[in-house]
Amino acid sequence: LIQLYIPLNFLGVIYRELRQSLTDIERMFGLMHENREIADAPDALTLQPGPAAVRFEHVGFSYDPERQILEDVDFEVPAGHTVAVVGHSGSGKSTLARLLYRFYDVGAGAIRINGHDLRSLTQLSLRSAIGIVPQDTVLFNDTLFYNIQYGRPDASREEVEAAARAAQLTDFVARLPAGFDTRVGERGLKLSGGEKQRVAIARALLKNPAILIFDEATSALDSRTEKAIQTQLERAAAGRTAIVIAHRLSTVMDADEIIVLDQGRIVERGRHDELLAAGGDYARMWALQQQEAEEE
Ligand code: ATP
Repeated sequence: LIQLYIPLNFLGVIYRELRQSLTDIERMFGLMHENREIADAPDALTLQPGPAAVRFEHVGFSYDPERQILEDVDFEVPAGHTVAVVGHSGSGKSTLARLLYRFYDVGAGAIRINGHDLRSLTQLSLRSAIGIVPQDTVLFNDTLFYNIQYGRPDASREEVEAAARAAQLTDFVARLPAGFDTRVGERGLKLSGGEKQRVAIARALLKNPAILIFDEATSALDSRTEKAIQTQLERAAAGRTAIVIAHRLSTVMDADEIIVLDQGRIVERGRHDELLAAGGDYARMWALQQQEAEEE
């Protein structure tokens, strides 16, 4: 039996390695494909570094002509403010983030940063101004250091370590067998959801972006991890213009404005207590989540 087991186990290892490299390649091609659709205008401007105000101006969008995804979405995030976007799954929250990063161009209306239409800016200057903490962070099969430095490949060792400190990774790194040089990902150490999110925050902070997009993980987190991530988010967003795509309403209580999306339209907006008092969709979602939390 052991003679059979060893080759099978070996095949398992090869299979996992192959699958992981395919995943990495798929991601690369996915990005290249999306990039090809978007090109810089011949006279594109460089977005100047510094505080950034974001404005969605009557934005409409569809991935394919049969189905409208966003309709007349209109809101502003003044420089240094935090706006949270909530709504049911599929209401178009992540699509807003993809449009701001200009993976796609809007179908109607415009998105502006400091008054400049995104389509009039160079992609390089636009994307340098935006840090994204995605829902599911993909870790490369490499060291933790490499995985953080990926946020800004020319960052020095000191800068990477400072970003890790700011994302509260210090204790975690100290416990790793080879510290920052420990291999993580499929073939290395597996990180928990909370740890991966902190790596993503460190990556985003390394860019020191004027605009931060935080796409909260949908996966269930225990309440301690959830609290820790919330604190992280608040720290990372301080002094930046932030858009938080939230699934747990407890994350957005302190936002300057909360936008409720339903089937691609804004159906309610305001601060947490105003929305609770209004007794609409938000108040219903809140009551439901409170009930779920109590049942747990
Ligand atoms: P969730 O809370 O589940 O993350 P969401 O509110 O962020 O959802 P989006 O990811 O913005 O929703 O998706 C909005 C709609 O657009 C969904 O119905 C989704 O199926 C569709 N959609 C998303 N990406 C694409 C795509 N690349 N091509 C076609 N349709 C898409």
